[in-house]
Parts: sequence; structure tokens; C-alpha cells
Amino acid sequence: MLQKKIDQSICCVEVPLSALFVHNMRCPKCGSLEDKVIDSRLSKDGGSIRRRRECLSCEDRYTTYEELERLELHVIKRDGRHEPLDRHKLLGSIAKACEKRPIGIEEMEGAVGGIIQELESAQDREVSTRVIGARVMEKLHALDPVAYVRYASVYRQFQEIGDFLDEIESFEKRGGRTSAQPELFKA
Ligand SMILES: [Zn+2]
Repeated sequence: MLQKKIDQSICCVEVPLSALFVHNMRCPKCGSLEDKVIDSRLSKDGGSIRRRRECLSCEDRYTTYEELERLELHVIKRDGRHEPLDRHKLLGSIAKACEKRPIGIEEMEGAVGGIIQELESAQDREVSTRVIGARVMEKLHALDPVAYVRYASVYRQFQEIGDFLDEIESFEKRGGRTSAQPELFKA
């Protein structure tokens, strides 16, 4: 069961190759940097990959352990459920807010990459949707005023139009473009 869960999170989360493969291991016996992996397996707790390696120069065998901590970024949903952070979902919510706005897919992907990097460097394994939402708002605020207000209105689940207007006002006070307002009501 644990094994299955781990395999799923490997599928769901994009992991930089550097997190999974350690290059240029130095042979403890002869110092050569050339080796081949004979066997790889997950540790019992699923937190690391154990690899048996064989030196191509002296054929000495040794073991390396590679941590999988980057696979453990989880989202805590509003209802308390946990699920692996889904990059595509995150991109989808940003793309929705940016619909018909002059924002390229590269910029949106850049925002997603930035958010994930920030979350990873915060060393927190579990992140609430609130925290993620706040990061998204930060990125959208820099990208486009209309996309920002659209996202904010959904994210904050505004109850009244008054809250919505306050948001626009406070955005303008922070230096947003005033052109956001007419376009917003057209959309
Ligand atoms: Zn060697």
C-alpha cells in the first residue's frame, strides 16, 4: 500500500532529474567518477532511493541513498483532505484567470514554476490552499490587474459585491492600473 502511494506521487509531481539521479559519484576505492547503477529500490519508508553502483574502473561496488523530499509537497484542502500538489491544476486556475488577457503561456508557466520553487524552499511538506492562493495572487498582481481581481474574487469567495469593489479599490491604491475597472465589468 505504501509502495503504491509513493509510485503515484512520482507520477503526479514533476521532479527535476537532479533530485532522482546523482551524477558523478566518486568511487570510494579508486576515486573514478564513472559508474553504472546495478540496482535501484525505494527504502522501506519510501523516503529515499537506494542504488547499488559498480565502479567502471575497478569494479568496486558501493551504495548511494538519494532523498525524495521534493516528492512530498502536498496540498491541504479546505475540507482537510491532503493531495499531492498538482502543477497542471495550478496552471489551469491561473490560465482561467488570465483568459483573454495578454498573458502568454510562458508567463503563466513561469508563475507556476516560481510558486512551486517558493513552496519547496519554504521547507514545508504540506501547504494549505490558502497559502497557495496567496502566492498565486502575488504572481497575478505582477502580471495583470484584471487576472488578479478575477482570481481574487474566486479565491476569497467574496460574499458581497462590496468586498469585490473594496478589492479593486485597494488594488488601485497599491498602484494597479485604473483601466482594470471597466474591463472587469465587461468580462
Ligand atoms: Zn573504483
